[in-house]
Amino acid sequence: MALKLYNTKSRTVEEFIPLNEKTVSMYACGPTVYDYTHIGHIRKYVGDDILRRTLTLLGYDVKHVMNITDVGHLTDDADTGDDKFEKSALKEGKDVWDIAAFYTDYFHDTMRAVNALPPTIEARATDHIAEMIALIETLVAEGVAYETPHAIYFDVTKDPHYGELSGQKLSDKETAARDDVVIDPDKKNPADFSLWFKRVGKFADHVMHWPSPWGDGFPGWHIECSAMAMHFLGETIDIHTGGIDHVPVHHENEIAQSECATHKQFVRYWVHHEFLLVDGVKMSKSLQNFYTIDDITARHIDPLATRLMFMQTSYRKPINFTWDSLEVANQQYKKLQKFAAHHEEVGEVNEGYKNIFIEGLSDDINTAKALATVWELLADAAVSEADKWATLLHFDTVLGLNLKDVEKFSISDEAMELMKKRDSARQEKDFAQSDELRRQLEGLGYEVLDTAEGTKLQ
Ligand code: AMP
Ligand code: ZN
Repeated sequence: MALKLYNTKSRTVEEFIPLNEKTVSMYACGPTVYDYTHIGHIRKYVGDDILRRTLTLLGYDVKHVMNITDVGHLTDDADTGDDKFEKSALKEGKDVWDIAAFYTDYFHDTMRAVNALPPTIEARATDHIAEMIALIETLVAEGVAYETPHAIYFDVTKDPHYGELSGQKLSDKETAARDDVVIDPDKKNPADFSLWFKRVGKFADHVMHWPSPWGDGFPGWHIECSAMAMHFLGETIDIHTGGIDHVPVHHENEIAQSECATHKQFVRYWVHHEFLLVDGVKMSKSLQNFYTIDDITARHIDPLATRLMFMQTSYRKPINFTWDSLEVANQQYKKLQKFAAHHEEVGEVNEGYKNIFIEGLSDDINTAKALATVWELLADAAVSEADKWATLLHFDTVLGLNLKDVEKFSISDEAMELMKKRDSARQEKDFAQSDELRRQLEGLGYEVLDTAEGTKLQ
C-alpha cells in the first residue's frame, strides 16, 4: 500500500516515493543536550519512531540518522543570546562537556524507557566539526557566505528560494527581526545567520572551540544538520523530520546552506511534528513547564503509556498534556498487557485487520485509526484468541509496546495458598477474613473474581 505523507514544503499530502526503490534515508533533528529530556521531546521522538517503524512494516530498509546538538545552540534560534551549554554549566557548576554528557545519557535513558529504536547512526555535532568547516568553505567559495570580524554568515539575499519552506517573504522576516538580532554591525542583513562564530567579542572565552580557516571558534547551530545529513545520507535525502518550531528558522537555513552548496534538492519530504502543550503553551525547557520520565514513573505510570497517549492524535495536531489523559492511556496499556499475559498460542495474522491497520498508518501516519483497529480486533468474537494474539504482535512492531515481553500469567504458590484460605473463609461466612484475603491477593497484582466454583484469579 502506498504511503501518503504530508510534506511541509508542498503543503499537501503526497504519495511517498523514495529516491531508491527500497531504502529510505531519514534525518531527524536531535536534542540539544543542555537540560532534561521532557515529555514534549518524547512526543517528537516517538513520532519519528512510529514513522520509521511504519516504513519498515511497509518493507523499506530505513537508514535513520539523528544528531545530538552538543555545541553552538544559542538561547535564541536566530543567533542571539547566550550559549545554552555555557549558561547551563554556570548554573550547575559543571563544565560544558559534563553537561552535554549528562543530558545525552538522560536522553538515551528516556528513549529506552519509551522504546524508541536507536537511530541507525547517532552523530554528535562535536564529532563532525571538520565536515561543517568543509561545507562552510564551499559556501564561501560559492559567494553566498561572507566573513566579518565576528563570524562567517550566510547571506540570505543570495538564495532566491530562501523562505519557501515556511512561506515567509524575506521582507517580512527583516521587519520582524528584533534589533538585538543584529549583534554584529558588519552583518549585511538581519536574517543572515551565523555559520561559524569566531572566538572574539562576547565569545572570547568560549570554552568549546576549534581551529578553522577563519581562526578559532565554533559552529553555528544550523550548519551541523546540513553537514551531518549529507555526510551520512548523501546530498539528497528522502525524509527530514523536526518539531514544528524548526520550520521558519532552522530548516529554512538548512535548505539554504545545503542547496547553495550542492545545487541539488536537499530534502524530498519535510515532516514536522506538532507540539505537546501544557495549559495551551509549548512544554519547554525555557518555560520550565516540563515533566520528565522520572515524573511519570514517580506516579507509577508505565512510560510506554505515553506512546498510546500520543497515538490517539495525529502528529500534525497539538496535544494538551494532562496527567488525566496519561492515566487513561496507562489503563489502556494495562488492558493490552493483560491480554498479552493471558495469551501464549500464536495463530495466524488476521489479514482483514492487518490491512485496515496498514491503511490507517499509510494515511499520513493516522495512528488514531491504527489504534482503533487494535480495540476492534480484540473485541471481535469472530477472530480466534490465537489469531488475535498473532495480529496484535504484528501490530506491535509499529506500536512499540513491548507486548511480547509481558510476563505470562501464572498463580504463585503464595497466591494459591491465599486463594484456598479465602475459599474456606467464604464457606464459613467469615466475610471480614475473606475481604482481607482479597486485599492481600490484589496486593500481589491479581484481579479477584468470585465464581460458582470459588475464587478465581486473573
Ligand atoms: P531541543 O532539544 O529543544 O532542540 O528539541 C529537540 C526536538 O524536540 C525539536 O525537534 C523540538 O521541536 C522538539 N520539541 C521540543 N519541545 C517540544 C514539545 N513541547 N512538543 C513537541 N516537540 C518538542
Ligand atoms: Zn537540525
